Amino acid sequence: MRLQTKTIHTGVDKDSAFNSVITPIYQTSTFRFEDGKTKGYDYSRTANPTRTALEENLAVLEGGLRAAAVATGMAAITTTLHFFHSGDHIICTHDCYGGTERILRTYQELFGLEVSYVNMQDLSAVRATIRPNTRALWIETPSNPLLNIVDIRSLSEIAHENNALAIVDNTFLSPCNQRPFELGADVVVHSTTKYLNGHSDVVGGAVVVNRPDLAERLQFLQNALGQGASPFDCWLVLRGIKTLVPRMRVHEENAHAVARFLESHANVKKVYYPGLESHPQHSLARRQQFGFGGMVSFEVEGGMHEVNHVLRSVKVFSVAESLGGVESLISHSVSMTHASMNSELRSKAGINERVLRISVGIEDINDLLEDLDSALHFKKSHAPAEVRALSEA
Ligand SMILES: *Cc1c(COP(=O)(O)O)cnc(C)c1O
Repeated sequence: MRLQTKTIHTGVDKDSAFNSVITPIYQTSTFRFEDGKTKGYDYSRTANPTRTALEENLAVLEGGLRAAAVATGMAAITTTLHFFHSGDHIICTHDCYGGTERILRTYQELFGLEVSYVNMQDLSAVRATIRPNTRALWIETPSNPLLNIVDIRSLSEIAHENNALAIVDNTFLSPCNQRPFELGADVVVHSTTKYLNGHSDVVGGAVVVNRPDLAERLQFLQNALGQGASPFDCWLVLRGIKTLVPRMRVHEENAHAVARFLESHANVKKVYYPGLESHPQHSLARRQQFGFGGMVSFEVEGGMHEVNHVLRSVKVFSVAESLGGVESLISHSVSMTHASMNSELRSKAGINERVLRISVGIEDINDLLEDLDSALHFKKSHAPAEVRALSEA
C-alpha cells in the first residue's frame, strides 16, 4: 500500500463486536478478565485499543517497528530522554524547539545529563563534540523558526560510528514529507498536535522506534511513566491523519506562494523557506524530503514597531503559537515560541526580534496573500521599541 492508503487504513479495524468501519473510542480505564484471561488489554495506562490503533498507524507511516502515542509532544521528548542515564552525553542541534532546550536543561540540573549544543550543518563540529559518553544526537530538521536543514543520513552515520542513537524530531514535516528511518535514524519523535492531527484541536505526541530493544524499552516506559494519550485524543489524531497527504499538498502549495510573495515584498528583509532556490540548503531539502512543508519564516524590515504593526493588522491569520493546523497562524519567535529559550543560545541560532513565523493553512491563497499584503503596508519607524516575553509555552 502507498502512504495515502496507509494513512486511512492502518490500525483502524478494531471492532470485532459490531464491525464498525471507524475505530471506536474505548473510553474505559480497565478491562474485564474472563476465566483469568483478558482479550489483550487489562488497564488503559498500559494499553488501550484506540491508542493501539493510532500507534499501529504511526509506526507504519514512519516505517518503524513500534510507536507510543503520548499526551503531548513534550511527553514524547521526555519519554525519549528516559532511554538515557545520568552522566550520558547528548548532542543537540543548536536551534532546537524551545521546550526541548528547556527539558534538556532541567534534566542536566536534576539528573546530571550532559548536553552540548552544536550547529549540525557543520558535520566536523558535530564530530568534534563527541565524547566517550555521547549516547545520542538530537536532530531537528527543518529547524524552528529559521527552517535550517541538516543532513539526517550523515548525522546518523556519525551517531552510529560512535555507538550513539540518531533521534529526529519530525514534527515540521510529518512522515508525508520526511521519513528519518529511511535515512538511518533510530528514533523519531513527533508533536502530533501539529500536522499529524492537523486541526488544532488536540495536544499529542508520539515516539517511534525501529529497533527491537528500543521497542521493548518504549513499551516499558509507556507503562512506567504513564504519559499515554487519552482514547479520545487518539481517536481525533487518527481521524486527522486520514487527510494528512492531501492537507500537506495544499499547505505546501500555499506556503510556496506565500514565500515567493514575501521574497518580492519591499517591507520584507529576508525569507526562510526550504522550497525557495535562495534557501542555502535547498538542494539538501530536495534530496532528503518528499516536500518542503507549510512553514515560512521571514524578517520584517525595521524592528519591533513594524513587527507589532504586522501582528495587529492581520485578519485572516491568527496571532498564535503552534502550527500545522488547517488555519493560518503567525507568531513572533522572540516573545512567543522562543521566549523560554536561553537568550544567548537564541542569538547564536540567529533568531532576532524581526523574525515572524507563519504556519500556512489551507485557506484560499488569495485571501492569505491579500491579508499579508495589507499587514505589510507600513512606513519604517526609527524609534526603538521594547520586546517583552508574551508566552511560557
Ligand atoms: C510543538 C513542538 C513540540 C512540542 O509539542 P507539544 O505537543 O506542544 O508538547 C516539539 N517539537 C517541535 C518541533 C514542535 O513544533
